[in-house]
Amino acid sequence: MANLYAQVIVDVPTQQTDHTFDYIVPDALVQAVVPGIRVAVPFGRGQRLVQGFVITTSNTSSFAKQAKAIDHVLDFAPVLNTELLDLSRWLAYQSFAFRISCLQTMLPNVMRAKYHKIAVAQDPTLQKSTFFNGQNQLILDDKLSLATQRQIVIWQKENKITLKYQVQDQAKHVQQWFLMRADLDYAELLTTINTRAKRQRQLIELFCNPTLKKISFTKLQQQYHIDRSVINKAVNNHWFTKKQEIVLRNPNSEPISKTTAKKLTAEQDNALQQIINAKKPVLLEGVTGSGKTEVYLQTIEHYLKQGKTALMLVPEISLTPQMVEQVRGRFGSAVAVLHSGLSKGERYDEWSKIEAKQVQVVVGARSAVFAPLTNLGVIIIDEEHETSYKQNDNPRYHARSVALWRGRYHNCTVILGSATPSLESRARGQKGVYQLVQLPHRVANQELPPVEIVDMRQSENLTEQLELSKPLVKAIALNLENKEQTILLLNRRGFASFVLCRQCGFVPQCPNCDVSLTVHLQQHNLVCHYCGFKRAIEHQCRQCKSTKLRYSGTGTQKIEQQLQQMFTDAKIIRMDNDTTTKKGSHQRLLRQFATQGDILLGTQMIAKGLDFPNVTLVGVINADTGLNVNDFRSSEQTFQLLTQVSGRAGRSQKAGRVFIQTYNPDNAAIILAAQQNYELFYQREMQFRHQAAYPPYFYLIKVTVSHRYQAQALKMAYNIIKQIKPVLKTREQLLGPTQPPIGRIKQRYYYQIIIKYRQNEQLFTALHQLLNEVQSYQKRGFLVAIDNEAQQLE
Ligand code: ADP
Ligand code: ZN
Ligand code: ZN
Repeated sequence: MANLYAQVIVDVPTQQTDHTFDYIVPDALVQAVVPGIRVAVPFGRGQRLVQGFVITTSNTSSFAKQAKAIDHVLDFAPVLNTELLDLSRWLAYQSFAFRISCLQTMLPNVMRAKYHKIAVAQDPTLQKSTFFNGQNQLILDDKLSLATQRQIVIWQKENKITLKYQVQDQAKHVQQWFLMRADLDYAELLTTINTRAKRQRQLIELFCNPTLKKISFTKLQQQYHIDRSVINKAVNNHWFTKKQEIVLRNPNSEPISKTTAKKLTAEQDNALQQIINAKKPVLLEGVTGSGKTEVYLQTIEHYLKQGKTALMLVPEISLTPQMVEQVRGRFGSAVAVLHSGLSKGERYDEWSKIEAKQVQVVVGARSAVFAPLTNLGVIIIDEEHETSYKQNDNPRYHARSVALWRGRYHNCTVILGSATPSLESRARGQKGVYQLVQLPHRVANQELPPVEIVDMRQSENLTEQLELSKPLVKAIALNLENKEQTILLLNRRGFASFVLCRQCGFVPQCPNCDVSLTVHLQQHNLVCHYCGFKRAIEHQCRQCKSTKLRYSGTGTQKIEQQLQQMFTDAKIIRMDNDTTTKKGSHQRLLRQFATQGDILLGTQMIAKGLDFPNVTLVGVINADTGLNVNDFRSSEQTFQLLTQVSGRAGRSQKAGRVFIQTYNPDNAAIILAAQQNYELFYQREMQFRHQAAYPPYFYLIKVTVSHRYQAQALKMAYNIIKQIKPVLKTREQLLGPTQPPIGRIKQRYYYQIIIKYRQNEQLFTALHQLLNEVQSYQKRGFLVAIDNEAQQLE
């Protein structure tokens, strides 16, 4: 037989590289080793086993002499198909990530962890191994854990015997049952047991009950308090037979109410027709309340009828429970939901359902874009402008770019939906790269709510409470009287509450980072949000010993108290990081608001997607905080946030209104958001981007260098600049090195280089070369990150 070699990407954290290693495929494994399968291979000096992904196979190898053999395979079937393997290559290139981190990102967490050596591979007798029971079944052991998430086939290499073992799937929930033996007389058995073996007697007494046919392990333990050791002994004595059942966890166990398709309005129907006939990606630009969701649902339905599948991305599932409920309501058990709120096991189960083609629709947040759906009919990205679609850690990918890649691969429909599209997408819509489909009116032709800007600099507008203006308070009072609901947004972007000494101006800083410490009144401490540093709140200034301290900033809690004092009978629901730590708390709070709340007060998490017919008033307590953030997108994001939250008002029959409190009433983003004039905002902002050479006119790559010593970090930054500058074309720019807004984090100094480029292969090559050198930099204490932040398909 000809030799077979496999090209494997190994998962070795100390030596990350996107380079493949050649391994010999042992004869016994020739059938099993195919691209996309995970294998255990010896690696490094100690030749310890590590997990790897087979990318390709070949009959020759230039490394034939040095090549080691694959030890065993970890999967029956590939865990990544050709599409996802291809995608990982593109992704690694586009986002300057290591291939292994791309591969891992595509799989549930439990399959990602380091491979643990399996002792049985060294033990030809197997039965003696502590990992095996009498039936040659691999027993799960904590030490084995993560290597055994799937059914594993172990080919015992020394004696070349192929042994197949059903391995308990760690990620799955296994229910153990004990079946009574009909041929055993338990009463008689009892007489043979030592009277002092109380627990064993208890167990057998239980079995003497003739109506008992089977009992679960959990019940024995929890209800009868019988130890695992006693049960194991009974199993070894064959007093009953053991049966295992795999139960797939269902994180969506909450009942849903079935919904049926609504009759589309003429505008919606027109949009639907354009979407299913489109030959390119569609930008669905629909004002808030224009019924985009129904268009999504009917598009999905259209493709399901053709036997195809659908992928739908939402910014953050916990923040958009209404959207998930609607998709599940329409498509029921055909839907899998993937999001970070799931436990590792639940996530694995959902993924398994998709992989096994048991579901046709997947809804999920960012990483769900890698869901192994085949035969895709449509990919939808709701609120496509949301920044949460961009991952800011390795691999630094944008889910929108990945969706477009997959759309092209499957030749399927892609919908980017938003009331306030990102400038990048809108510009592409304008240019005809995307097909621009618009829903300019609300479903029942309701007016968009009128928005009033409240100038907080005018003292006649202020109440005693300072944070709440007279016009807003008056409107809330009126709303309460009318038994209508109110949503209040406290914009916390770039905003933290800190301690200020009124005597000398001192603000306590984190010792490890260049940031002021944040006040957590409830816990009575000061916390650094970047490194976790904590200390108790002090009541005396460290610098001048004055006790005149001001706890600055506006917290949701404080506003809640003020509101409650003003409106003693109002039912106020507060939604912020403090009230939503528990799983499912978003949903619970939103339900509470829907059924009995008067005022929903919250941070950004209440701005999106909520659809409550009785909400007629929206108030933005501080529109400005996002404007002060040093980011070329701050205007765009402020505009988007204000437009989105305004859109929560007056969505049903009752008309709505909106108050925006601001210290910058002349700011264009605020004025245009108040007018809900996306078009004009887009044009103005494009001018600014053009002048300043920002996306969408240029792409942007941010290179970040850090080191414990500032001078070293700076030196490396200049070093990198020297490498990059020569490959830039005319009009492409390199800015920096500059210190980012927070120049020191966790005792490391940071420097940034910004590269504005158009289309430049050489630049990519140079940066990839840099990336491969990173490993040697790491040894000298450097960290280098390359963030291609505006990556797009052309
Ligand atoms: P968007 O996401 O565009 O802001 P939604 O999809 O939330 O808007 O729709 C706004 C409201 O209109 C929802 O309450 C929805 O149930 C309702 N709606 C949407 N389409 C129709 C329709 N064709 N007929 C009746 N009501 C509709
Ligand atoms: Zn002081
Ligand atoms: Zn810190």
